[in-house]
Amino acid sequence: MFVALSIAGSDPTGGAGLQADLQVFRSLGVHGTAVPTALTVQDTSRVHQVLPVFPTIVLRQIRTLIADLPPAAIKLGMLATDDVARQVARALETAPAVPLVVDPVLDASDGSALLERRAIPVLEQLIGRATLVTPNLPEASTLTGCDVSTREGVEAAGCALVSGLGARAALVKGGHRDGAPDDLLVLRDGGSQQLHWLEGERVDAGPVHGTGCALSAAITAHLARGDELEHAVDRGRRFVARALAASAEAGARSRLLRFG
Ligand code: PLP
Repeated sequence: MFVALSIAGSDPTGGAGLQADLQVFRSLGVHGTAVPTALTVQDTSRVHQVLPVFPTIVLRQIRTLIADLPPAAIKLGMLATDDVARQVARALETAPAVPLVVDPVLDASDGSALLERRAIPVLEQLIGRATLVTPNLPEASTLTGCDVSTREGVEAAGCALVSGLGARAALVKGGHRDGAPDDLLVLRDGGSQQLHWLEGERVDAGPVHGTGCALSAAITAHLARGDELEHAVDRGRRFVARALAASAEAGARSRLLRFG
């Protein structure tokens, strides 16, 4: 059995966060284990409230779980607060050395903060341990200070995540850009970096909730199944493109992805 662990926020709609990650893991044949970092009061139009989980309970959940059901890959999503992020970092110090995907969630698409800004230094430490970090353009800009409005700026941000913060690879997602939503994959290669622009096709589905969560979860599932990083990224992107094409209107103001 392949086991993956998601450490992320709860989204009761099932469109994003932990509940979406578990659906993605399931549809890719991976047993999902899950540690919530925060509860949210949320519907398909917005996040109404965030309640972080008590930080030492996050720590104990992770330690207790992985001692019994060691994952083959780990994904981090919303971490909510500096205290929770610190306990996650502490728990990972003694976790098995398996692939780690960090989705550096800062804000929901409605603008609600999903990570307090004073937690950014801890998030950066976690990125330094990541096999892959998957920021969208605003997250890449906040984390690196690069102007990501041009391709050169996106390349500078991707390289800064790898050479500056120490991730093994970065996937800077282009979905927030006008025009072609190409993603940039930066891979560490000895002392330098390889850059690959991955062509994306815009699926005109309107506002869809949780695409970033689904992508990082799908890549994590493929890594848990033993894929090499580049294959896992490629398969994860194709999985999300299919889920977007199959997405359906749900709730008052959104569309939900549909997984296989
Ligand atoms: N809720 C949780 C717990 C999340 O992790 C996220 C995104 O990462 C969201 C809500 C917001 O999803 P979206 O930005 O797609 O609305």
